Amino acid sequence: MKTDTEKKLRYSHQREMIYQYLMGTQEHPSAEMVYDALRSEIKGLSLGTVYRNLRLLEDLGKVRRVASLNGTERYDAMCGDHVHFICQSCGTVHDVPEAELEQVRGTISLPEGYQLGQVNLTLSGLCPECLKKQASAN
Ligand SMILES: [Zn+2]
Ligand SMILES: [Zn+2]
Repeated sequence: MKTDTEKKLRYSHQREMIYQYLMGTQEHPSAEMVYDALRSEIKGLSLGTVYRNLRLLEDLGKVRRVASLNGTERYDAMCGDHVHFICQSCGTVHDVPEAELEQVRGTISLPEGYQLGQVNLTLSGLCPECLKKQASAN
């Protein structure tokens, strides 16, 4: 039988592995993608555990959720304000460091009594690979 301490340690180890994985990828993976990538490395990992840990990491402010086209939640370990670009053809999520959010911030005026916090900006369009495919199909 496992003690509570053992269980907690196991969970925090899984959480750390999930966090490390998110830190090391640019893909903005969904919970399913995280599960697929780590299931062979973490014994006894379930999709439910991945969801639980992602929510916990989000509560801790270590990861953030990125809006996605089809409603699937994608996760990002880079929590500072930055712009995302979602390809509407293949669904990949890219960071766009070239787009300056500070400038966007400056153009936003709010009604009196509101205070601006984080600015989430998600752009959609076509990524270079999909544009290439489109060009070669024509
Ligand atoms: Zn694409
Ligand atoms: Zn991002």
